[in-house]
Amino acid sequence: MKTYAIILAGGSGQRLQAEVPKAFVKIHGRTIMEHSILPFQKCDAVDGIILVVPQKYVEECKQWHKAYHKIEAVVAGGVTRYHSSMQGLAQVPHASDKVLVHDAARPFVDEVSIKACIAALDRYDAVNLLSPVSNSMVRMKEDKIEHAVDRNDFRQVLTPQAFIKECLYKAHLQAKNLPVETITDDFNLVLHFNTGTVTWVEGNTNNIKITYPQDLKIAECMLYKH
Ligand code: C5P
Repeated sequence: MKTYAIILAGGSGQRLQAEVPKAFVKIHGRTIMEHSILPFQKCDAVDGIILVVPQKYVEECKQWHKAYHKIEAVVAGGVTRYHSSMQGLAQVPHASDKVLVHDAARPFVDEVSIKACIAALDRYDAVNLLSPVSNSMVRMKEDKIEHAVDRNDFRQVLTPQAFIKECLYKAHLQAKNLPVETITDDFNLVLHFNTGTVTWVEGNTNNIKITYPQDLKIAECMLYKH
């Protein structure tokens, strides 16, 4: 049984308004994708890394194996995150392997979170990585505020999320009939189709997802300190 990290960079990242796909924007001389690969490359609990990238980046990323030797496969992504995740999972050899699915757009993932997710797979089939909500929150309906909600009832979903391969594979197969826009992460599928036992671990609030242009500025400052 081995542990694989699937790093998803198949999206175009249109909200970032950059010329290249989000994961290939450079910060301090390295792509966001490479910043995201590094913590998994360094973590001794991870055996192999699978990259899911836009088709035209596949050959270029295969060369990265020289610098990041845990990279075992580079495959093209699909039309949605769900399809990209399926492509990555297809590269994981055994049903009992442990799998971490990570957004390339989160370069601040830390080793403590990675190891906590992997350790929780000794007792559960699927692990969600969550962080508390710091802002007040309201429920909206048709662009109007309905009412305030108690933020203690909510958590933000981060990545990586971790799975025993078989559990996620079964959920992916059943999800083929769902409207794709309702599928924003893998753990939700396992929950929805009840394909395994589930738990969560607390993540780091630094583990932000680079989505909008202002996130790039924040990331530049955070990576400067790294
Ligand atoms: O769009 P969003 O920021 O939610 O995407 C989360 C992650 O999923 C990103 O790292 C993105 O590159 C990846 N993704 C993908 N394939 C897609 C869409 C998104 O791998 N078709």
